[in-house]
Amino acid sequence: MEKRKFILDEKDMPTSWYNILPDLPEPLPDVLHPATGKPVTPQDLEPLFARELIMQEFAPQRFIEIPEELQEIYRVWRPTPLFRAHRLEKALDTPAKIFYKFEDVSPAGSHKPNSAIAQAYYNHKEGIKRLTTETGAGQWGSALSMACMFFNIELKVYMVAVSFHQKPYRRVMMETWGATCVPSPSPDTKSGRDALAADPNSPGSLGLAISEAVEDAVSRDDTHYSLGSVLNHVILHQTVIGQEAKKQFEMADCYPDIVVGCVGGGTNFGGLAVPFVKDKLNGSHPDTQIIAVEPESCPSLTKGLYAYDYGDVAGLTPLLKMFTLGSHFMPPPVHAGGLRYHGMSPLVTHLLKLGLIEARSVPQIATFEAGIQFARTEGYISAPETNHAIRAGIDEAIKCRESGEAKTILIGHSGHGHVDMASYDAYLSGKLVDYSYPDDKVKEALHQLPKV
Ligand SMILES: *Cc1c(COP(=O)(O)O)cnc(C)c1O
Repeated sequence: MEKRKFILDEKDMPTSWYNILPDLPEPLPDVLHPATGKPVTPQDLEPLFARELIMQEFAPQRFIEIPEELQEIYRVWRPTPLFRAHRLEKALDTPAKIFYKFEDVSPAGSHKPNSAIAQAYYNHKEGIKRLTTETGAGQWGSALSMACMFFNIELKVYMVAVSFHQKPYRRVMMETWGATCVPSPSPDTKSGRDALAADPNSPGSLGLAISEAVEDAVSRDDTHYSLGSVLNHVILHQTVIGQEAKKQFEMADCYPDIVVGCVGGGTNFGGLAVPFVKDKLNGSHPDTQIIAVEPESCPSLTKGLYAYDYGDVAGLTPLLKMFTLGSHFMPPPVHAGGLRYHGMSPLVTHLLKLGLIEARSVPQIATFEAGIQFARTEGYISAPETNHAIRAGIDEAIKCRESGEAKTILIGHSGHGHVDMASYDAYLSGKLVDYSYPDDKVKEALHQLPKV
């Protein structure tokens, strides 16, 4: 009998996060202050983030211990399973072995709580009573709502208006865990009021919601801001995924030839990938192919410019060197809301620049085809974001069928799609469309890049 799932004991859960910064062959470019254009200091960031999180952002040590109090909460859903996709392999008639690392089992249904609880914990330790954040489709907002509930922190979530109105259930999850959620742009901040003055029916964007959440946080002493993606410390927290997966591959007595994950801001991919990048760098597995998959309609890694840019629309965040489509770029309304971001994690950007990973983009309808094939073989209904990783995993398995190679493929299964049934409905009723690369809009947005 071939094993179907690989389950670690709670005692085998990682007790530290893996920090790749000291192992990088070249250091990351500096983060710049938005007003001075000079490298930011930890003090510059203190109005926004807990000191411990700022230290983690630039940490020189390779491993950072996970506090026991946090491990206890991780154990609510971790370690997560690694599955072998026997039924999908059979349907594809491929000699490849397909595995998926399954983050769906967290209470919020995705990988996002791995960082949300860590961020809530360190803010709580510092006496912070209130957090603000932004959310697109609502996955990060709901994860942080749950995390703040564990540590008695008040949370205000600025949710991109178009999603707030079209996707009410994530908002209800946030409220169930005790958070407040308002549509962005909102009348509660200057950034929001400016946007509403320009367009009372503004659909909002992630970049605009970030401006509102940051403005709110810096205006109050008891409040910090929390970001669910992009930054180094978020990827750091997500490395529990890749570290567990490596142990599970030892149980399975193999090692992946190919690792694929979807990228919005880059953190579920980063958390899965960097423990494998570590093995590339130390020479133990130099040939692993690691692939970041993004939507064709929001192609920061494959079509973006490598430049310093803001994380938000109003230009309140530090400047990050990253692949960007311009902070004024409004991505088309694709159903993978978690992948609609103009920028990219500077760390994932850097790994691509160094040739340690590769990137590809996929069109929307093809991702739903993959998600349906996955649901009809493996049973699980995946998040539209996750379907991007599944698409690329299936494509690699099909290549194996053609070449006869029996490669081992690992798919990062970042979350379930139970709150995304409207998107599946659109696909199943033939209403889903592909958006090609919005060439003109990107060009326009790139004209507005900050000069540094
Ligand atoms: C938010 C989200 C993503 C994208 O965010 P990253 O920071 O790139 O990981 C991917 N999958 C799911 C299920 C998400 O909720």
